[in-house]
Amino acid sequence: MDKDKELSQLKKKIYKLSKNFPKKNLVYADGNQDAQVMIIGEAPGKTEDKLQKPFVGRAGKLLDDLLGRVSLDRTKVYITNVVNYRPDKNRKPTHEEINEFKKLLFKHIEIIKPKYILLLGATAATAVLNHVGPLSAARGKWKKKKIINSYYNIFTIFHPAFLLRQPRNERITLRDLQEFKKIIN
Ligand code: URA
Repeated sequence: MDKDKELSQLKKKIYKLSKNFPKKNLVYADGNQDAQVMIIGEAPGKTEDKLQKPFVGRAGKLLDDLLGRVSLDRTKVYITNVVNYRPDKNRKPTHEEINEFKKLLFKHIEIIKPKYILLLGATAATAVLNHVGPLSAARGKWKKKKIINSYYNIFTIFHPAFLLRQPRNERITLRDLQEFKKIIN
């Protein structure tokens, strides 16, 4: 089956997970589905829900800016979230929600088959790497992990929404991204 067909079937399955998120729109993915880099965030916010595209609000603008500084943009990456609906009042997704969406996220990764995965923040690190504890211990490191049938090279950085609240961590994140870029080049 080709990628377009597989992705549209997956989208239908994700659509069915909407029961906890009444009146919210499905925010599926953006970017280049043939990219070597897949970026995974947490869950859409208000602007993303409205425009039905991941990372298009304030955190998204910062993400685009940071990616631009290492010569990456949405033509060179594929972007999605762990949870594809906006949790009410910008709360974090619950463990149950993460576990429910995670199965389809793993399928999503298998369809895209990126060479590199960039995780943004703790929710993505928990879902993909079973990370626990402060993200400061996990960021800026490469991990190799088997997801379904293949191994992936995975790197974690701080989430851009966290950087909006704590801009002094932007410099570390830029350094992390430069490290990431060095390997993927
Ligand atoms: N934060 C996320 O994790 N994802 C988005 O799409 C927007 C903000």
